[in-house]
Amino acid sequence: MKRKTTKDRDRNRELERDARRYIWHPFTQMAEWEKEIPLVIEQGKGIYLYDIYGNRYLDGVSSIWVNLHGHRKTAIDRAIKTQMNKIAHSTLLGLSNIPAIRLAKKLVARAPKGLAKVFFSDNGSTAMEVALKIAFQYWRHRGKPQKTKFVSLVNAYHGDTIGSVSLGGIGLFHDLYSPLLFPTFKVGAPYCYRCFLNKTYPECHLACAGEVETVLEKHGDEIAAVVIEPLIQGAAGMLTWPQGYLKQIRTLCTRYKVLLIADEVFTGFGRTGTMFACEHEEVTPDLMAIAKGLTGGYMPLAATLVTQEIYDAFLGDYREFKTFFHGHSYTGNQLGCAAALANLEIFEKEDILKKLKPKIEALEKLLAPLKDHPHVGEVRQIGLIAAVELVKDRATKEPYPLEERWGYRIAKEALKRGLIIRPLGNVVPLLPPLSVTIPQLKKMVAILGESIRVTTEM
Ligand SMILES: *Cc1c(COP(=O)(O)O)cnc(C)c1O
Repeated sequence: MKRKTTKDRDRNRELERDARRYIWHPFTQMAEWEKEIPLVIEQGKGIYLYDIYGNRYLDGVSSIWVNLHGHRKTAIDRAIKTQMNKIAHSTLLGLSNIPAIRLAKKLVARAPKGLAKVFFSDNGSTAMEVALKIAFQYWRHRGKPQKTKFVSLVNAYHGDTIGSVSLGGIGLFHDLYSPLLFPTFKVGAPYCYRCFLNKTYPECHLACAGEVETVLEKHGDEIAAVVIEPLIQGAAGMLTWPQGYLKQIRTLCTRYKVLLIADEVFTGFGRTGTMFACEHEEVTPDLMAIAKGLTGGYMPLAATLVTQEIYDAFLGDYREFKTFFHGHSYTGNQLGCAAALANLEIFEKEDILKKLKPKIEALEKLLAPLKDHPHVGEVRQIGLIAAVELVKDRATKEPYPLEERWGYRIAKEALKRGLIIRPLGNVVPLLPPLSVTIPQLKKMVAILGESIRVTTEM
């Protein structure tokens, strides 16, 4: 794979120049980006990415939380190519198509019991916008137009569109836009390491869920839905939930007659060890958004699943205008649906979830020594999602000032050692594709540990 010819050298220089000249990168300070030579990816294979020079890197972020079975997974490659020979895209506005039909059927069969209909879109944010609008409109059709508000959690991340940012609670990303956003009820999130109630699990008896109850008790009549990222708040720093919280939220939503929207955009498709995070506590949400891993990390495809009851509320004579007036150009895209079908088949045929168990256990053992590091506040894990929270002072849990960019510096060290990770402030997540092997996990954790050591000793 190494390239040495002059022609390649010229090509690579031009790519590196144009990468800085033409692209505005997401979540990136471009002034800084422009000063550095960008890492330009040319190929992928398994859990490795290869740059334009043929250098190899471990994909420790699953290409930003989407990739499941590695890059160039034969079954998905083949499914897309086969579909390509028929058609790449038509539309679901007024037409149906074969892969969309088959995928919807399979998703309903595999999703938490009770979810019966699939509304397609093309990314996690739109899947959440769809969920919001359906929940809002549902209550109109049910004769409760006053139920227009949403409850979401502090530190939540549901995407970058205005609706999903309204639900969000990450100050650094979201505060600036507040004049554009609709107000929501924000409730403290379970984050046991820094409990906002200063309690300890399990003696707390999930007092944090009680905060949700307080809001529902007081304002239930005007609330359309509670919105959550089940089991783990990803972008907030991989904040894992105490056992029982999810189930408790479901119970409260039912009791106070508000809908539960589960944002499984990140947690769906095996990431937490079960197909969907809601399965850990046998919860069926009323609406569920999925995206990222849906296509195995291949194509931008998303979906919002709803119960029969919600769907039925939209039925009526056309002149009642109960139609859900929403749809995206690429809704139900055939190539995306073909990739997603192949992804689900891989889960069945290769028994992916069963194979995850020993990897999850191995990861837990590998992470354990990191806990002794003087600047590691907490190591969190659920399924194959791991994260290290760095602190300035372990005793007081005092965080490092964000300006010091510890996460970023550690990620830079890791990159030098051949591991790609993407920090979330002072949290360094490790999020390999599900296809990672135990030796590869060992390598990744070793690089992560060393990168933390050298950075904090600098
Ligand atoms: C990534 C993410 C989203 C947004 O998905 P996009 O495809 O990036 O728009 C929404 N919710 C959660 C929990 C996510 O992790």
